[in-house]
Amino acid sequence: MRQCNAELGQTGSRFAPLPDKFYGAGCSTTNSVRLERVGGDHTEFTVTNLGAVACPLANSFAGWARYGVDRAAQQILGSPLQRIETMGSFACRNVAGSARRSAHARAEAIDVAAFVLADGRRISVQSGWNASRDEREFLRVIHRSACKRFGTVLGPDYNRAHEDHFHLEYGSGNYCR
Ligand SMILES: [Zn+2]
Repeated sequence: MRQCNAELGQTGSRFAPLPDKFYGAGCSTTNSVRLERVGGDHTEFTVTNLGAVACPLANSFAGWARYGVDRAAQQILGSPLQRIETMGSFACRNVAGSARRSAHARAEAIDVAAFVLADGRRISVQSGWNASRDEREFLRVIHRSACKRFGTVLGPDYNRAHEDHFHLEYGSGNYCR
């Protein structure tokens, strides 16, 4: 835990460690943090609506935000990233349509809905996935880069349940849809 927090600090992110909580029924947040800002090349990004997130996942997320999202935004859209809007991490629930606990039940997944750039543009997964050429390319590039950093990545091409967000899940797997 200390190791993970130290690594997260080295990314330039600002965060607060959270106490472990056990909710029963296979739901808990352990070794988790509240991620306030993520360090970028020149600036910091805010992350909205996140809540508790497992530290190793926060580490992967910080790397993706900086080296995946921010750089793609600069290269493809001509503006750095300012904010990532999420639909949260922790939720005591099952994988939709199954009896299996979701990674969200351990705060080991983040649902990302939209990206706001320094120039004011807002690119949402839902409207941008099939929008202008630049937005389409941006979202596909950062989806691919997420697949290198997370164990499971699900997006609009996976199913209707993911048409408005990317599901980014910590783990050693390599499931990318
Ligand atoms: Zn999810």
